[in-house]
Amino acid sequence: MTYLFNPPATVSLPIEGSTARFPVGRVFCLGRNYPWPESAGPAPSEPVFFMKPASNVVEAQGELPFPPLTDEFCHEIELVVAIAEGGANIPPEQALDHIYGFAVGLDLTRRDHQRKAKSEGLPWEGAKVFDASAPMTAVVPASQRHWPLDGALWLKVNGQERQRAHLGSQTWPLAEVISRLSRQLPLRPGDLIMTGSPPGVAPLNPGDVIDAGIDGIGELQLRVGPRPTGQAANAA
Ligand code: MN
Repeated sequence: MTYLFNPPATVSLPIEGSTARFPVGRVFCLGRNYPWPESAGPAPSEPVFFMKPASNVVEAQGELPFPPLTDEFCHEIELVVAIAEGGANIPPEQALDHIYGFAVGLDLTRRDHQRKAKSEGLPWEGAKVFDASAPMTAVVPASQRHWPLDGALWLKVNGQERQRAHLGSQTWPLAEVISRLSRQLPLRPGDLIMTGSPPGVAPLNPGDVIDAGIDGIGELQLRVGPRPTGQAANAA
């Protein structure tokens, strides 16, 4: 077969303890999945899924590029589930068998864009989709050491803790998330599911140092890069 141009390279994540890499197919993200204060509004009655393109996934290391078109670039620490066995209409009691492993990820968000779009009743995809919007650690295979998950996830900015929650406080447990998503469309090996973020999401500034982790899974550190050229604060 001849392509018009070279197809994009496969995005992949390292796997802890292996020389093989996890090839990333699709990235599904779950909306609110932890208890939030009442001021955040009513919780959705069903899990809300959205997507990021695989090209937004980067290994979490070094400098995090500050995206264009935002003055409210926000962190969201999330447990990432890596799927290695696909399937449609997966029953909850079989859903955990489809998991290959876990990673720590950030669902980075242009909050100002999202708020404006929501208030106008418009799609807020642009709030979630930009280069490097989903930095992730290596994938840790599910094993006796890591399963069942019963730790906390946390995020600090410049040494100050902003987010912390126990994985057990997720509104929809992983089995339910996988099962419901597989009713929307068949899951495939290579799918990643970002499983929502607890309260404490807040804006990042250039030069901020992010430390984040999930007990038993891993930790990441990133430094927020400068604003894009010509985009001073409040220019969005
Ligand atoms: Mn999120």
